[in-house]
Amino acid sequence: MTTIRQTLPALYGRMLAPILDELSMPERLATCDDCAMCRPEAPSGVLQFRPDTKCCTYHPKLPCYLVGALLDDTDPALDEGRLRVRQKIGARIGITPQWVAPPKKFNVLLQASRNNSFGRSASLLCPFYEKSDGNCTIWKFRESDCSTFFCKYEEAADGQSFWRAMGAYLVLVERGLSAWAARQVDPSTREPPARRDMTVEELEDRPPSDATYRSYWRAYVGREEEFYRACAAAVSDLDHDRLVEIVGADAHAERLSAVKSSFEQAKDGHVPEQLVLAPDLRRVSRQGPREHVVSYSRYHPAVLSSALLDALTAFDGERSTTEALRAVADAGVELEESELEGLLHQRILGPPEQK
Ligand code: SF4
Ligand code: SF4
Repeated sequence: MTTIRQTLPALYGRMLAPILDELSMPERLATCDDCAMCRPEAPSGVLQFRPDTKCCTYHPKLPCYLVGALLDDTDPALDEGRLRVRQKIGARIGITPQWVAPPKKFNVLLQASRNNSFGRSASLLCPFYEKSDGNCTIWKFRESDCSTFFCKYEEAADGQSFWRAMGAYLVLVERGLSAWAARQVDPSTREPPARRDMTVEELEDRPPSDATYRSYWRAYVGREEEFYRACAAAVSDLDHDRLVEIVGADAHAERLSAVKSSFEQAKDGHVPEQLVLAPDLRRVSRQGPREHVVSYSRYHPAVLSSALLDALTAFDGERSTTEALRAVADAGVELEESELEGLLHQRILGPPEQK
């Protein structure tokens, strides 16, 4: 069994909550080496990604201590990743004591195009993605979004909710830990002020002026790598109790509680006494007797027989689940209990309040 802790960057070691050793949520449908979203044989109407981008049309926001740990690592397989991080540091765009962050312009474009273009445009390709082999050059040190995104989830919508809760937990850790580490190394450094609008330099893909950059980095201008490495060293001895103090006990408890409850929900096989067919179900493609239908995610359509899809109208929120199952059987369609659970996870069926 691969635990959640084992799926996350090893740098966190014992820092993260002990319960992560007890939880496991394998996502075998996301076959990254043979990308599940790059199937030339997929019928039209079923969304696919570009094989030369996969889902890496994104720019990570790397916390300082992960950057430092990457630079300290001696694995030759990460040489390319280190080179790319060094190039980014040299360019001074998005480079702050706490983060190696995306250019603001990238985030604006990503937000504006996410619905239509995620996984489908090389103009949003991650700078750490290696096209020739379709791999990540900094994988061991990837951040929260990259650690918790999957295109398809074994528990469908409930798996997605679990990983989103894990992502929110890791974001809390990244923000708290990176701010704390930067303060340990040099409390006179600071982050750029939060602003919605873009500066002229940001618009024109230029670094901030020397004076502005110096106001963030102070004595560490030109010594950014040294700073990031010191951040990695600062966090290396922290244990879980200290992490909780740093990120705030209440916030930590709240995010961890969401992780636990979403895990329980994903593993809960309870079938409500009444169910209803999702009103916003989209039948996107038909191949012979089978259809692709989109419910919780365009990236993870379900494949069902047209006969079953038609018979599912028996789940009308009025009949009991037992009566609806009988009506499905009377229509000559088989529906196993395990299939029923799958339809619930997929949000193809749900409790009547979803109507
Ligand atoms: S998670 Fe990304 S790389 Fe992995 S199978 Fe899905 S789209 Fe492909
Ligand atoms: S950091 Fe790695 S996993 Fe994340 S988007 Fe870039 S290439 Fe993909």
